[in-house]
Amino acid sequence: MIIVLKPGAPEEERLKIKSLLLREGFQINEIVGVNMTIYGVIGDTSGFDPKRITVNDFVEKVMRVQEPFKRANRMFHPDNSVIDVGGVKIGGKKLAIIAGPCSIETEEQMGAVAQSVKASGATLLRGGAFKPRTSPYSFQGLKEQGLEMLKKAGRENGLPIVTEIMSADKLSRFLEDVDLIQVGARNMQNFELLKELGRTNVPILLKRGLAATIEEWIMSAEYIMAGGNDNVILCERGIRTFETYTRNTLDLSAIPAVKKLSHLPVIVDPSHAAGMWWMVEPLAMAAIAAGADGLMIEVHNDPENAWCDGSQSLKPERFRRLMEEVRGIAQIVGREV
Ligand code: PEP
Ligand code: MN
Repeated sequence: MIIVLKPGAPEEERLKIKSLLLREGFQINEIVGVNMTIYGVIGDTSGFDPKRITVNDFVEKVMRVQEPFKRANRMFHPDNSVIDVGGVKIGGKKLAIIAGPCSIETEEQMGAVAQSVKASGATLLRGGAFKPRTSPYSFQGLKEQGLEMLKKAGRENGLPIVTEIMSADKLSRFLEDVDLIQVGARNMQNFELLKELGRTNVPILLKRGLAATIEEWIMSAEYIMAGGNDNVILCERGIRTFETYTRNTLDLSAIPAVKKLSHLPVIVDPSHAAGMWWMVEPLAMAAIAAGADGLMIEVHNDPENAWCDGSQSLKPERFRRLMEEVRGIAQIVGREV
């Protein structure tokens, strides 16, 4: 951390700042110029609130050199993390492909989608049982009954399952049944939920919040990791911008940014980003080209009659074609499907 004092900061105020920093256990490298005095603060300042310094009228500015996250920081873990989800490794050379419907509807639907996506090369099966809907009058998910259907389809097709948790009171059930617990965009900053998940060791898929910065997103991963659970996978799913043509704006730059800042795997969900099925394939290819560790794709056997997000869901045949395209891109960037 670097502290720049205003010209003419009185000695008394300088001493106040210095003694506060020393009391916190930091060392200070003092540079006294003609007009300005600068303090280089040495030590781990990640837990130190810079506002304790900026409140002083004689402080011009405080700049952080180090990011506020530690366990998620690549600086402390230079190698990519590879996370094991029910035997499927996420973050290594092989891409993770999560596919399935937005919502679990019937046993037949789950069975049909699971079988087709498996045949096309998906490695994990998704399906929402507890749905975070904008309207309280919309379908809220089949809840525990849906979870049973997802479990059955996953088991029958040899695919680990991914589904969203909305509150910590369902955690014990999720721990028993779910291979990868998804925290949705709307709960990315539900800190109490994140802390509960941090006390487990189950892999967590943390989606980026609707209007979260990259740093806020990684800080949410840090919440889970601070509790001792290092099994976090990040998922970019589009953010709110001024653009209304698409449901969200897929932030492709988040992929190299996260890769630079953190060692955690990052996958991309082009379905919720685009909101339109025909845009899913090109965005999926772009995501893999940009270095994503995998994809999450909504697939439905009858999108016209889907209970949720049919307009952004691929038919099984289109998903099969998407996988072929992705395979080609993966080869170019040195990855496998
Ligand atoms: C989902 O994946 O089912 C979902 C609701 O996505 P998001 O949280 O990204 O909106
Ligand atoms: Mn959806």
